[in-house]
Amino acid sequence: MYHMVREHIPSAKFNKLRVTPRAFEQQLHWLSTQGFHFFTMQELRALWKAGQLPAKSVAITFDDGYEDNLINALPLLQKYQAKATIYVVVDRHDNDWATYKKAHHNNGELMREPKLSDLQVQALVDSGCIEIGSHTMTHVNLGKLNDEKLRLKELTESRTQLQQLTGQPVESFAYPFGIYGQADVEAARAAGYQDAVTVAEGIDPAHPLPDFLQLKRIKISGKDTLLAFRIRLRTGKRGWK
Ligand SMILES: [Zn+2]
Repeated sequence: MYHMVREHIPSAKFNKLRVTPRAFEQQLHWLSTQGFHFFTMQELRALWKAGQLPAKSVAITFDDGYEDNLINALPLLQKYQAKATIYVVVDRHDNDWATYKKAHHNNGELMREPKLSDLQVQALVDSGCIEIGSHTMTHVNLGKLNDEKLRLKELTESRTQLQQLTGQPVESFAYPFGIYGQADVEAARAAGYQDAVTVAEGIDPAHPLPDFLQLKRIKISGKDTLLAFRIRLRTGKRGWK
């Protein structure tokens, strides 16, 4: 699970979400030399269900829809013939989602980060190595949403709009903040998603088949060294445990 691929901002709060281009390239290089196979989420799911997933399979994901995903990440993905899935928030401009989680100490840092324009989203799709998934309409905190209609709108409307924008089926979803309950899993299913990722840290086993609407992820921090990255790829988590 990545967010941004860009240089850090001195003394900024969210540098964990900023993996530098140099670190990202080191990580891709390592994955590639280790023999990992890169898949989009749709590809990963299809092979997994068919029992044809190679032992070393990885799906790189980016949350939110930052412009650097196109400018900095895509050229590196192409260099290593890698693929990725980007979970795009439909209303991503001038939207300060950091405030929804922690209202205090927020200074609009994430709101000021440039987001992908619609044309840029289309350019990513045209590259042939990017799948676009949904991250809701507004980056809503589903845990605080009690309105059933609004919940379905966040899930369904975002899927419809992203399908129109990309001309591709949108089957993959990421729960904003990783906050969700059983009602959200059911709503994601009802909205037509075939797979959804959480922020529960870990690696789902090849067998038995996981719940494809509650997949675990490995958090990649902008503060990790390559060694820390390798440990996370092995354990799913930070550190050796
Ligand atoms: Zn997000």
